[in-house]
Amino acid sequence: MTILGTSGLVLNEKLLFEHSKPGRKGYSLPKLDVPAAKLPAELCREEINGFPELSEVDVVRHFTRLSTWNYGVDSGFYPLGSCTMKYNPKVNEAAARLPGLANVHPATPPHLAQGILELMYRLQVALAEVSGFAKVTLQPAAGAQGELTGMLVIRAWHEARGSKRSKVLIPDTAHGTNPATATLAGYDVVPIASQGVLTLEEVEAHMDDDVAALMVTNPNTLGLFETNIEAICKLVHERGGMVYCDGANLNALMGIARPGDMGIDVMHFNLHKTFSTPHGGGGPGAGPVGVTEQLSPYLPAAGVERDGDRYRFEPEKTDSIGRLMTFHGNVGIMVRAFAYARTLGGSGLKHASQMAVLNANYVRARLEGVYDLPYKRRSLHEVIFSDKDLPGGCHTLDVAKRLIDYGYHPPTIYFPLVVKGAIMIEPTETESQDVLDEFCDAMIAIAGEARDNPDLLHQAPVRSRVRRLDETTAARKPKLRWEANP
Ligand SMILES: *Cc1c(COP(=O)(O)O)cnc(C)c1O
Repeated sequence: MTILGTSGLVLNEKLLFEHSKPGRKGYSLPKLDVPAAKLPAELCREEINGFPELSEVDVVRHFTRLSTWNYGVDSGFYPLGSCTMKYNPKVNEAAARLPGLANVHPATPPHLAQGILELMYRLQVALAEVSGFAKVTLQPAAGAQGELTGMLVIRAWHEARGSKRSKVLIPDTAHGTNPATATLAGYDVVPIASQGVLTLEEVEAHMDDDVAALMVTNPNTLGLFETNIEAICKLVHERGGMVYCDGANLNALMGIARPGDMGIDVMHFNLHKTFSTPHGGGGPGAGPVGVTEQLSPYLPAAGVERDGDRYRFEPEKTDSIGRLMTFHGNVGIMVRAFAYARTLGGSGLKHASQMAVLNANYVRARLEGVYDLPYKRRSLHEVIFSDKDLPGGCHTLDVAKRLIDYGYHPPTIYFPLVVKGAIMIEPTETESQDVLDEFCDAMIAIAGEARDNPDLLHQAPVRSRVRRLDETTAARKPKLRWEANP
């Protein structure tokens, strides 16, 4: 039987397991659980039924044509709030493709992989510095997996103290992954109805000795900084709980404030958001996790450590929660993130955050009075409007669809749930004032159309290849296979 390695290399099973024999020095290959059974004969096909026969040139033209129908951050403004769709410098791609970095097999012995190990080590250190945490693991492959890692670390910490707490507090502004994560980690979710910025009283009302942790997002998904965060962390700690921070919005804070300094215990990063890696369509991503010193023994096995001028994987730790990934995480994303951090440097990262905040406030100032602004105060990296008071029976979905006719990817809509008909705009630092002005002009024109000719919005999009789709059915019953005659 053959196994496809994460680098795409086909490994021979026997070879792999010979190399992973315990006792082999300097080699920390994870244990793979490969089923011994052979595949049933009826599943082994020579060819796929009904596939069309096409020439190479037909196939190349088909896919090249399809690729021009795609909309990405390289083709236009992409203000998808909460997703931080910033421009990804092409130098990151060049770095990630360097053969010495791209072609290292994850099972290469550390003494032959010093370059990539040094990069991973230095990225761990850089992320710890940006966030104010003592230690960082690079292993999780997404923000959501970072959340799970962090919550399992918190769980392990409680269990090591013989504590059997069962609840996790989560404000209702949180990303849907937060309650999903807490549930996966075995906790009951207690939602906190928040009025924008979380208050000490709101947390206090739910805090008891059965609460394992509070999960907050800072700045939160309303684009507002949690100004009471220090007092809230103090309160949770006094009652024996931990504070988890969803760090997806770090693009607003770099070089300005550090979650580790606010009293937060654990935070995940979304390298594919803050550290400029292409994303969308489900990945790949990377969700490193930073923790305080007291939680570091529970981090996943095995981080990279420095030994003089050499780098190696940490020896197994007895308290570790184990592994989240078979190997070491999405290393290509780490290379991109490292290239980005090194290109910008500390002052550049700070400038990026400042410009991201400035751009969001520019959009807020230009559209205030045109669209309803539920939170009338300065925002951080993103700003939330709503469809309240929009004339002509027009709603958020109509505005989003009409934006497609104007050549824009729509913003995030109907999230966060606490704002009815939310329109969540995150311009990011990489857009110029000209681009923001054109986008705001389009938004203002659409508000005018809603008043004068609302049917334009109800019919939209009219200039796209497909019109309004049945998105619910597409999500519930996706067609995942090629069909000869659909
Ligand atoms: C994107 C996001 C996540 C989840 O991150 P993934 O990398 O998509 O798993 C979690 N919380 C917030 C606020 C986010 O914006």
